[in-house]
Amino acid sequence: MNSGRILTLGFGLFLVGIPSLASVPEAGVPGGVEPWVRVRVGEWKNTFEIRGYDLVFQALSTREPAFIGSKSKTRPHRFTANRGTEWKIDCPGSGRVRVTLASDPSIRYEAQSPVRVESPSGFVRIEDRPFRSQVYFYGAKGTRGCEAVNKLPIEKYLEGLVNSEFNSRWNRDAIDAQVVAARTYAYHEIIEAKKRPQEHFDLESTTKDQVYEGAQKEDFLASQSVSRTRGQILTARSSVKPMKAYYHSTCGGETALPEEVWGKAEPGFERKVVCPYCKTSPAFSWEGVFSKKTLIERVLAGLKFPKFPFPTIGKSEMEFTLTAFAKKGGRRIQEVLLSWNGGLHELKSRIPAQKFRLWVGPVELKSTNFEIFSLNGDSVVFRGRGYGHGVGMCQWGAKEMGSEGFNSRKILSHYYPDAVVRRTW
Ligand SMILES: [Zn+2]
Repeated sequence: MNSGRILTLGFGLFLVGIPSLASVPEAGVPGGVEPWVRVRVGEWKNTFEIRGYDLVFQALSTREPAFIGSKSKTRPHRFTANRGTEWKIDCPGSGRVRVTLASDPSIRYEAQSPVRVESPSGFVRIEDRPFRSQVYFYGAKGTRGCEAVNKLPIEKYLEGLVNSEFNSRWNRDAIDAQVVAARTYAYHEIIEAKKRPQEHFDLESTTKDQVYEGAQKEDFLASQSVSRTRGQILTARSSVKPMKAYYHSTCGGETALPEEVWGKAEPGFERKVVCPYCKTSPAFSWEGVFSKKTLIERVLAGLKFPKFPFPTIGKSEMEFTLTAFAKKGGRRIQEVLLSWNGGLHELKSRIPAQKFRLWVGPVELKSTNFEIFSLNGDSVVFRGRGYGHGVGMCQWGAKEMGSEGFNSRKILSHYYPDAVVRRTW
């Protein structure tokens, strides 16, 4: 990188022009090339603090007139901060991205387009968390706020993911099976994201998709599992495309099909699976208790019930009935019927159970495999089994299967009986 020209700017900071650090292969149909994944790691925040060694800032539009303050004539849309520095990134609106040196706010640049940050060390720290490869900052089109997206090779992403979603100290076959499921899910989302060109990312870094906290949780066991299963994905038998390989914490005895939970079938899921393995999970059976006031407020908020004065809900407005409906022969609740008479307002509503669960609180109401145990007094008590949506692999079940000596392929074929494993890169 020393081949670049060194410029000394008026404010005493050394800037070096260097070639781009990485070429990014295209993700697409399986074809032997490891795709890169774009993970949203920061959502519309006003300011991000970033640190790194020899950070390279690059405005994405090469038509960018210049970073304000940059005096380089050859590469006006790029600059390198010499040695270890700390910067603040904020987005003042209209898609602009502003980069300010933390130790001297007079050193400031502003781009009209998104900005990519990378470092020859391979890491960029955001709020003290290390992220591999590249971080992109997008400015909100209208008002203030930036979005941060980490772009990195999918296998490196998985190494960081293991100890957020699972635990690398679990049995190695259980971890291998989970890594294959997580790789498949991520690859599926990379392909799906191409249908949403207005978005800049493939996956959220939260439980909305898969929890990812950067490179800080990588360890040797996680890396080994990722390299043992490199490129392996699950597909429906007649397809080479990655399936949407859902997984969840604890099925509670039986998995669910996507159409039961979200009303839409997915390739690769044809049969439910009986799971005798997750009894050791702390969420195998549970009780969820809500005050009536909390429950009705959350449901009404979920229904966007109009003009309801939430803070003033009175005693007489807490009375309601709830009825839960399962499919014949099924354990999971499909719909909840709420009848509520709040004096001036009256409501009778059939709510899909998955929505109901997310509205009232998915941590307290851990699954849709529940019964309404009591609706007396001031509280509502649910009793249920399992944690999560119930589709695909049961993580606690996979852990137990691994401990009992099943290998990773057996674990995968147990929870995805209609899928096959293919190696794609
Ligand atoms: Zn299970």
